[in-house]
Amino acid sequence: MAVSFKKLEKKQITNLKQQKQHLYRYWKDSRMINDDSVLKAFLAVPRELFVDPSYLDQSYADHPLPIGSGQTISQPTTVLLMLQLLNVLPEQRILEIGTGSGYNAALLAELAEMVVTVERHVELADVACENLCRAGLEEVVVIKGDGKQGYSKLAPYDRIIVTAAANRVPKNLKDQLAVGGLLVAPVGARHGCEMLLMRKTAQGHFQTSGHGLFSFVPLI
Ligand code: SAH
Repeated sequence: MAVSFKKLEKKQITNLKQQKQHLYRYWKDSRMINDDSVLKAFLAVPRELFVDPSYLDQSYADHPLPIGSGQTISQPTTVLLMLQLLNVLPEQRILEIGTGSGYNAALLAELAEMVVTVERHVELADVACENLCRAGLEEVVVIKGDGKQGYSKLAPYDRIIVTAAANRVPKNLKDQLAVGGLLVAPVGARHGCEMLLMRKTAQGHFQTSGHGLFSFVPLI
């Protein structure tokens, strides 16, 4: 599914580099993304390794792309806005629900020491593993299973990010978040879910804020 950067023609590489730079400048100049660590992670990870080869020329287009199994790799701006909200620090333990292509997990691996990501579609999880290896990020732990359960073996997590929309944040995820930790998740209907940021203030207690409306594939 994914391709090696080496197999791309020179002209294609130049185009992709220009498009990547364009997106970066757009975020910087509009001040939409002002977290330098997030921008640095974006520059470090080749998104073209995570998109389906038939969409290669759209690797840095600012919209979602199909990745198979009826799923999508999210729009780059959405991905970066979520990472900015998540406010990851280098020594932290991160759990992602919805591995998809592995792209967001790759960005997380640039930001933090330990990244666990859970995907329910076995084929997508396998491709994500390949993509992450190609990007030199084989340390990411990819788990095949239902992300609504979280992944208790490596809990608690300092940060949890959900990349599919549910009607509510699953209880297991809230339980597996460390006190003081942050959780970012789109909550509500597929088209028009609200991006929630939850801070766990004590066991069973959260401060929640809303950060705009988005569209996401459902958390099943
Ligand atoms: N983060 C991904 C894109 C997410 S798309 C990327 O960077 O490419 C949402 C993903 O969530 C899809 O791959 C979908 O299969 C997965 N998903 C949906 N419900 C899930 C569940 N209950 N457990 C784990 N993954 C789930």
